[in-house]
Amino acid sequence: MPSTAKGHGREWTTADATTYYGLKNWGGRHFSADDAGFLQVHPLGDHRSIRIHDIVTEAIGKGYKPPLTIRIQDLLRTRVVELNQLFDEAIQDESYGGKYRGVFPIKVNQLREVVEEIRDAGKAFHYGLECGSKPELMIALAMHKDPESLIICNGYKDDEFIRLALFGRKLGKEIYLVVEQLSEVPRIIQISKKLGIKPLIGLRVKLSTMGEGKWASSSGEDAKFGLTSPEIIDATRRIKRAGLTDSLRLVHFHIGSQVPNIQTIKKATVEAARFYCELKKMGFPMELLDVGGGLGIDYDGSRSNYESSMNYTMREYARDVVYNVKTVCADADVEVPDLVTESGRAIVAPHSILVTEVCDRISKKSVPPKKTAASKKQNPVLRDLNAILENEHGSSPLERFHDSQQKREEANNLFNLGYLDLRERAQADAIYWKICEELSNLSKNGSYTPEELESLPAMMADQYVCNFSVFQSLIDHWACDQLFPIAPLQRLNEEPEVDATLVDITCDSEGKVSKFTDVEDVRQTLKLHDLKPKEAYYLGVFLVGAYQDIMGDLHNLFGRVNEVHVFLEDDEEDGFYIEDSIRGFAVSDVLGFTQYDGHILTRRMKKQIDRATKDDEIKPREGTRMLDEYAEFLRGHTYLAT
Ligand SMILES: *Cc1c(COP(=O)(O)O)cnc(C)c1O
Repeated sequence: MPSTAKGHGREWTTADATTYYGLKNWGGRHFSADDAGFLQVHPLGDHRSIRIHDIVTEAIGKGYKPPLTIRIQDLLRTRVVELNQLFDEAIQDESYGGKYRGVFPIKVNQLREVVEEIRDAGKAFHYGLECGSKPELMIALAMHKDPESLIICNGYKDDEFIRLALFGRKLGKEIYLVVEQLSEVPRIIQISKKLGIKPLIGLRVKLSTMGEGKWASSSGEDAKFGLTSPEIIDATRRIKRAGLTDSLRLVHFHIGSQVPNIQTIKKATVEAARFYCELKKMGFPMELLDVGGGLGIDYDGSRSNYESSMNYTMREYARDVVYNVKTVCADADVEVPDLVTESGRAIVAPHSILVTEVCDRISKKSVPPKKTAASKKQNPVLRDLNAILENEHGSSPLERFHDSQQKREEANNLFNLGYLDLRERAQADAIYWKICEELSNLSKNGSYTPEELESLPAMMADQYVCNFSVFQSLIDHWACDQLFPIAPLQRLNEEPEVDATLVDITCDSEGKVSKFTDVEDVRQTLKLHDLKPKEAYYLGVFLVGAYQDIMGDLHNLFGRVNEVHVFLEDDEEDGFYIEDSIRGFAVSDVLGFTQYDGHILTRRMKKQIDRATKDDEIKPREGTRMLDEYAEFLRGHTYLAT
């Protein structure tokens, strides 16, 4: 952590902000602070940059207020190009005899504009698509244009799924049905016979190498996917017997998402390459090894094997896959396969930024309690609490903490029994919080902190109320404890002096963010700036483009947020333009999902207003206005309008 201006008489600069918010750590070449204290994104990782605050301002001008998802489309392209180039480089450096033929797994972000951008960015590399369900296959079939790129079909497959994939074969697409369950083999054989279309078949192997990290259960003996080695033997027999020997060409594995440790990836690659070699030796015309997903994102920037990080780079990943497959094949004297990866998270996470506005602040720190008028005798419990505050007995911090807890409980009991009035109860609470604040400051500055006092800074932190829903926009944080980097979009040249946690606007106590990324460990609070009246304070949540980007739910009926898609543009003054915008849900949309019809609701309101008007409870003009506003709010946004 940077030394603060206060402690060292030194001005806080944007360099301090860069360090504190970890911009270079999780953001690599893509995020920085400019001299005026604004956070900027570098979509191509070079000098060209866009102030995120400018995007927000322009979006608001177009009627798209935060909460706002900003997609930096050029950053998405950059990731696609990077992955392909790094594999091509590794293949050259290793003099590897095969090609790289990556695919994007649609499930990681299905939004049309995202899939289109990825497909277009990958065109030069014949980058393909992966799908795991019928709807995703339908997207893949229609969106896929390049006959030299692959479509890989994973996931559970019914007969309709298999038929659809075979239609793709008829259209000249190189589309693989990857067998996840043994029972799919006879069905693939039967349906392809019936349609007279030869399938391309892959086998997903259940590796003994266990994944690591949050999504480890995608692999290993208990995984719900893939074939065990006896099942593979069984599958190959059936395929041979059906005269489809020529169809089996691919081995696939997927050890789970966000693999933090490169050793896991190396081990899995070696094991899968062994399966590949054995199948080739059994006489199948094997040509592809698909190493699935798992390529991580360094959310906390620590370059460690902690679950929100990764101890390797994309370059290292590409090299290790290429090198290990090459070595295994050389040992087995088998020609190397073309390599497929299904990296999703690593491609899409960085391009999406969630912007939320801080709309309120909840603080336990109240104004210093006023002493009761001398005329009134002070309750002994208040006197005792004050004595702890003044530390009249020269006690240790831990003693003072225990004493104050005891006295506060006493005060609450006295209040419940009627011996303390509301004013006195308020004083007791305020003194108690004052003591906690003091102890919390002591523990922040001191070298050693007893365990019981460690939670004090988090307990005393202010809560910044942010206009968004965790359940819509940060669902992985709520559901899987996934950490995302968070930083203010402005004032990075000012020292942030408030220790804060974030709460959302849902009526759910789980709707909060109280864990933050840090290079070391996990932070319990985040330093933010004091709010200024009449000046919007925006926070950006970063690397949010994978999975949860599109998964949000309707808790409290907030639903989807506004969204803008941004492109670099040198001819524009601020270096960008907004190509597309997607409106978040209107109130009438979310009501529709729960079977309410806006017209019927309005009619019901009208009936009640008419009656109240007739009964002279409201004036006719007032009634009309109420109804107009009701109808207007139905069309309006679900989130706070201020
Ligand atoms: C989810 C999934 C992926 C994507 O994994 P990432 O870790 O996001 O790259 C790839 N392949 C399969 C089979 C998957 O289920």
